[in-house]
Amino acid sequence: MTDSKNTFYITTPIYYVNGKPHIGHAYTTIVADTLARYHRQKGDETFFLMGTDENSQKNVEAAKKTGKEVGVYVDEMASVWRETWLNLGISFDRFIRTTSAEHKKAVCEFYQRVYDKGDIYPGEYEGLYCVGCEKFITESELDENGECPDHKKKPEAIKERNYFFKLTKYRDRLLEHIERHPEFIQPEKRRNEVVSYIKDFMEDFSISRQAMEWGIRLPTDEKHAIYVWFDALLNYLSGIGFVQDEIKFDKFWPADIQLIGKDIIKFHCAYWPAMLMSAGLPLPKTVFAHGFFTVDGDKMSKSLGNAVDPVELAKEYPFDAVRYFLLREIPFGEDGDFSLKRLQERYNADLANDLGNLVQRALNMIDKYCDGSVDRDIKIDMPFSVETVRLHIESLKFDQSIIETWKGVSWANKYIEDAKPWELHKSGEHEKIKEVLSRVYVVLADIAETLTPFMPETANKIKKLLSTEKLSPPSEPLFPRK
Ligand SMILES: [Zn+2]
Repeated sequence: MTDSKNTFYITTPIYYVNGKPHIGHAYTTIVADTLARYHRQKGDETFFLMGTDENSQKNVEAAKKTGKEVGVYVDEMASVWRETWLNLGISFDRFIRTTSAEHKKAVCEFYQRVYDKGDIYPGEYEGLYCVGCEKFITESELDENGECPDHKKKPEAIKERNYFFKLTKYRDRLLEHIERHPEFIQPEKRRNEVVSYIKDFMEDFSISRQAMEWGIRLPTDEKHAIYVWFDALLNYLSGIGFVQDEIKFDKFWPADIQLIGKDIIKFHCAYWPAMLMSAGLPLPKTVFAHGFFTVDGDKMSKSLGNAVDPVELAKEYPFDAVRYFLLREIPFGEDGDFSLKRLQERYNADLANDLGNLVQRALNMIDKYCDGSVDRDIKIDMPFSVETVRLHIESLKFDQSIIETWKGVSWANKYIEDAKPWELHKSGEHEKIKEVLSRVYVVLADIAETLTPFMPETANKIKKLLSTEKLSPPSEPLFPRK
């Protein structure tokens, strides 16, 4: 994932603003934030881009329902999304909006390059379109009621002249790139899906829609709006200054990792690289598609009303606990189940008992038995490997990374139990107590360091406690039991 250059560029998909963020969006965002924080900690010049997809027809429909002008609606919703992430402590460097002037300019320039390359041609489209998916859909994809299986809605029948992108021209180059760069599409399961799509199903795609009033106009034909996906994918370029800030753009492009949900691989692993090839730009190094959640075993959906709101969750639990839970519970790339019961169990066991209690207890004893002073440079054999933690993060095995760190947590708890400083105190073995607690101290210091990308607030609290001259326990538990 990383190479010798010391910059790191990471993106999440930009989110539609026709609803509020749910836990699925928060998951992708937390992973991106963890990686961004890890690379900053490592000293890489890092750029973490997020944003909102505002030119979608879905947003127009959502605005209509509220009786608001589309422009007013997307402004309000974009700020809801931005504020949500800020309030949850997400450390993005830029929040790009696809209605911004900068984005529109980038889209028009990009379109012109592709047009000049001869990769855009007029054609007739006749078929079905699902606004929920923002994609053309075939009869065979519909369910038994003739509806989109994801949106439970009949697609619109569309017959119009529009413009097409010569996607099929890039078939061989795409397959060759994927073959030569196995790291390009991950996990492997998704790579196989993409390869089969490119080989057997891929067709040129329409990149404009007539009679759409909302959306970026086609520079070569004002009657058309640019298809929302063609526009949206370009946020990854406009967000770092494509054609407007060349120094920044050259520094960060190509992206090191683009995180997506597994439902949008076709767009990100076929359309997107072909568009970049057409415009003569290098491809992102890795597109990683993560899995989906169920909530207590059920598919999360608006109709079921079981969407988990990360803001509500953060009122019940410290957001660090939510981060910990998602990264620890679900191997990244797999599907997972989100359960409040599991969250509570892990919170109490791993955070309140294991980590929180360790910090409280260790500092309490250092205060009580050693007058707040230990040997902070004591050399010991570390019970866990900081290097292993890093390697796991770099290969996106966040659960493994946390498991490795927890070897340190478990070791320290057991070591205190076995060494029994309170008995050493009774028998007056002060040197021994100091040695025991110094060992625990240095392990805790490494734990705080390795936890920084995962649980930034908690790690900072622990670091602060460990850096005071006279050590003392926190005034309240890091994770009160629930
Ligand atoms: Zn649909």
